[in-house]
Amino acid sequence: MQAKMQLLKALQELDQELSQIRQQQSGLEQEQAAMAAEEGRVQDMVDSLLRDLEGLESERNALRQSLGQEQEQVQRSEGRLSEIKTQKEYLAVLKEIDTAKKVNKDLLDKIQEKESQMAALRQEMDEKQSELDGLRAQLAERGSEISAALQAFGKVLEEKDAERQAHLEPLPSTLRKRYQQLMDRRGGIAVVEAKDGTCTGCHMHLPPQLFNSLYRTTDIQSCPHCSRLLFVVPISE
Ligand SMILES: [Zn+2]
Repeated sequence: MQAKMQLLKALQELDQELSQIRQQQSGLEQEQAAMAAEEGRVQDMVDSLLRDLEGLESERNALRQSLGQEQEQVQRSEGRLSEIKTQKEYLAVLKEIDTAKKVNKDLLDKIQEKESQMAALRQEMDEKQSELDGLRAQLAERGSEISAALQAFGKVLEEKDAERQAHLEPLPSTLRKRYQQLMDRRGGIAVVEAKDGTCTGCHMHLPPQLFNSLYRTTDIQSCPHCSRLLFVVPISE
């Protein structure tokens, strides 16, 4: 087989290996990105729960402050009772105390309600936090495996790329261009064997004259149907 065709065949093998490695590489990169996105999603949930919790806490604190004020009011009113001279005034203060105590009871109920909401949120947040911790541990472990694999792939790609350049250099630029166009347009297969009068790339019959000439010519010939570059395995091989 002629030298150019040998180079093209070897080049195609290299390109197919390179494309497989790049596919594996991008698969790993996608896996890494998906894990990071999941981590971000759970982190957002934890953050949002924390904000809700802080909101409830400040509501509860405001209620506690009101309660404290009301309790002071009750104490003041109770202190005044001993100094009161008239029955009417006495009853009025008693009523005042009673009303304030009802308000306090109401405030206490509200505070308890806020606190039970807070406890539920805390539990939810703890669950999400431990989910997040798990994801982080997973990301650290799988992430370092992926990084090591990507690094190894990077090295192989570099070597294969250099090999590819060495195969490419001796070829005339028009042939390089033709090869590259075919690789792009014909699903990564630019060079195919012609066998039993047929192109094995597109499985169409080749004109007999063209097929026979492949055994003699030193020119690179194309399939008239799919344009791929044809080679034959000599009968003696
Ligand atoms: Zn063809």
